[in-house]
Amino acid sequence: MAGDTSAPRKCSGADCGNDAGQLQCPNCQKIGKESYFCSQDCFKRNWSEHKKVHKSQSSILSSIITPKVVSHPDPATGHYNPFPTFPYTGTLRPVYPLTPKREVPASIKYPDYAKDGIPRSEQVFVGRNKITILDKKQQDAMRKVCRLAREVLDIAAREAKPGVTTDYIDEVVHKACLERKSYPSPLNYYHFPKSVCTSPNEVICHGIPDQRVLKDGDILNIDVTLYHGGFHGDLNETYYIGDKALADPDSVRVVETARECLDKAIEIVKPGMLIRDPGNVIEKHAKSRNCSVIRTYCGHGINQLFHCAPNVPHYAKNKAVGQAKPGMCFTIEPMISLGTHKDKTWPDDWTSVTQDGTRTAQFEHTLLITEDGVEVLTARLLDSPGGPVPMPEATSAAATPSV
Ligand SMILES: [Zn+2]
Ligand SMILES: [Zn+2]
Repeated sequence: MAGDTSAPRKCSGADCGNDAGQLQCPNCQKIGKESYFCSQDCFKRNWSEHKKVHKSQSSILSSIITPKVVSHPDPATGHYNPFPTFPYTGTLRPVYPLTPKREVPASIKYPDYAKDGIPRSEQVFVGRNKITILDKKQQDAMRKVCRLAREVLDIAAREAKPGVTTDYIDEVVHKACLERKSYPSPLNYYHFPKSVCTSPNEVICHGIPDQRVLKDGDILNIDVTLYHGGFHGDLNETYYIGDKALADPDSVRVVETARECLDKAIEIVKPGMLIRDPGNVIEKHAKSRNCSVIRTYCGHGINQLFHCAPNVPHYAKNKAVGQAKPGMCFTIEPMISLGTHKDKTWPDDWTSVTQDGTRTAQFEHTLLITEDGVEVLTARLLDSPGGPVPMPEATSAAATPSV
């Protein structure tokens, strides 16, 4: 193959006349520029001057190709990273292109945002803090759509294994929705491009299904919402992908803690419960497992609207208003992290990741408040895949070995 035939390249150090070695500036590499140095020392000495190159280079690039710099597609697959200069917080990368938008036949009833992406009824419907009370017929409609949503999640979860892409999971969810005469609620909601959210590893929520292949050792949240009979039903679970994930103590700790946080929160739900209370239960349990609670995303009212009052925070000492009354429907959906509670959003404007790249897990149910308690409308069925696994030995003992 052809090589570089020009004279030996010189060190990029400002006052250095040496020939360059193999050492390249990693920041320059990211923005597609070659800067070689003669030594680590010379690189360090010249850093304060050299780093200006990155700024000018990236602003030149972004003025030409705003806003998204696209990496070269892999010639074998055509796949590429749409945001190659973005400072990712962990090891996960988006794998584009996304597949074309999946169609929904006109025979299925669309929510109002299906065409132009804007959920107008959510923006005007009732007051921001007024929580809707559903009558018996409406409650039955919620039971129906939530049961269908559970079936779709279970179908998707059975397909989630090493070697398949998250886009394939999206295809499975989309088809299962149509078979149930249901619209996949995420599709085009505020322009979300796919029919389900798939959130692996450090993704907190709102991951976009793409061409990334699931690996043995991943954890994956699948968040399904259906629109059927004029109502939405919403649930999610996090699954272990392959045996490696089940053998990883930290993955099991975060997934099982998130599962238990949701279960413990549901235990206190009944008429009269303050909407601010579940957060106290959730954060207490998360802390006991040395995990933290994501604060940016909350549970939500759900009925004819995908998201409405109440807002249900998952963290302690929150100031949410309102109390549970019979006939209300809302979700609880704690997102639990092994590290920081702080989040960051990818330039796709959806994918939310932990700022330190640590793994997160989430579980969600849609709940109906009854006269004397709560009905879990999206409850697991006898044959639902997934479910709790025991904590590995290593984490049930104290984290620090005694001396
Ligand atoms: Zn959901
Ligand atoms: Zn939700």
